[in-house]
Amino acid sequence: MIRTVFGLLGISARAAPVDPVIQALQQTLMAYFASSASTTAYQTAVNEYPDCFEFISTDEQATFAISENRPCHDGSSKVHQLNCGHYVLCKAPALCGRNCQEASALQEQENPALHCLLCFRGDAAREKKQHPVRWHELLLPKYQDPKKELEHMDDYSIVLRPAQPVYLGAGGLLILPKHPAIVTLIAQLENNCEEQLKERIHKLCASLGYSDQISKSTLENLEILLCNHHMILHCDLRVVGTISFVLGLEFQGKFMSYINVSPHFDAPEMTNGSFCLHKARGILTDLVARDKLEVCLAKLPRKYRKDRSYKMAKVSEVARRIRAHFLLHSSFSKIQKQDLFSYIIAACVQQALWQFKLHIMMQEVCEAMDLNHEEQFETAPSICESHSKAGYVEVRIRRFAANKDWKVPVGSKKDEIKKLWEARKKADQQTKDISDAMGLL
Ligand SMILES: [Zn+2]
Ligand SMILES: [Zn+2]
Repeated sequence: MIRTVFGLLGISARAAPVDPVIQALQQTLMAYFASSASTTAYQTAVNEYPDCFEFISTDEQATFAISENRPCHDGSSKVHQLNCGHYVLCKAPALCGRNCQEASALQEQENPALHCLLCFRGDAAREKKQHPVRWHELLLPKYQDPKKELEHMDDYSIVLRPAQPVYLGAGGLLILPKHPAIVTLIAQLENNCEEQLKERIHKLCASLGYSDQISKSTLENLEILLCNHHMILHCDLRVVGTISFVLGLEFQGKFMSYINVSPHFDAPEMTNGSFCLHKARGILTDLVARDKLEVCLAKLPRKYRKDRSYKMAKVSEVARRIRAHFLLHSSFSKIQKQDLFSYIIAACVQQALWQFKLHIMMQEVCEAMDLNHEEQFETAPSICESHSKAGYVEVRIRRFAANKDWKVPVGSKKDEIKKLWEARKKADQQTKDISDAMGLL
């Protein structure tokens, strides 16, 4: 086996003085990867860059003080898991940062944060509307900007400690993505996990006697959540699988709790679990809402769609804006938001059209969405004017959206004021500089 290793490197096994440590590492790695990645990718990576791999230390290893690399172990390690979910590696064992998942209350207050390069790249990419489809794409050169990354580190050097991204594979293998071959390997390992997860979903649905619809819905959820992995703290794939399944059932009107589903995916008990589940539910319902909204807009009465001031993309944007702010700021309870889900979308579409001086009736929007305009709302507060769901939501959202121009992004006005204020401050400073200079004359 070793001959193949050196054969790939172009070195004859006879001539090469073999370092026993490297040899042992290579053998271990080959055994490790043999069942989980395609041969070509791991052989190149393992043979050419053995220094990019190390195994997580164990209790038995006596040298841990200098080489401790278990994530956040006892508050100090070379490897840390940050709140964003990413793992980072420091040059030497370092105290947990305030942004470590395991940071104690004191560390959260006092320790400078550890830099997360992947989050920096992710934010930059999303700002440029280049959404990576999987988190590991951020390791590719396409998303790198060494100059900006250095500048960022320099700017924040007082509050951020340097660290580099590291991948924690199954079985406690740490992989440093320093070379393209290693990045390819990580992508391959992640793809393998994803494929296994999909298989598991199919099998689980079949064994529990659930319909194809549920496995389809679970797989759709999985895809969406992996594309938005940063929003659920890059949680473990097995956790993403569990959440996708729980929500897949939920959207089909069935119920199983996270705790009951997680053993089927070997998923760990979630420390921040309810947060991820809640967040995932939010991401998915928002997407469903978006779909419903688009379908509704396409089915509105012709007279509105053909009006000169009607631009579907613009109306859709305004309706989404009103909905997002209403959900954030209204006093609707969680139950009400669920119960009135579709009516809220309808009323937001109505208000969006009103913003363009198209005075559509709530009934017309409800018809476009196949909603019953007359459906009664049992739990409506008695003070409200209407006892139908549509009527109640219409009044609430009309009041919420009134007297405000929703065609401009909320917050952009504030930005303008901030810019003006900064320009003014700069001008003041210049005037002061000039008068100071004059005073010196
Ligand atoms: Zn830590
Ligand atoms: Zn991060």
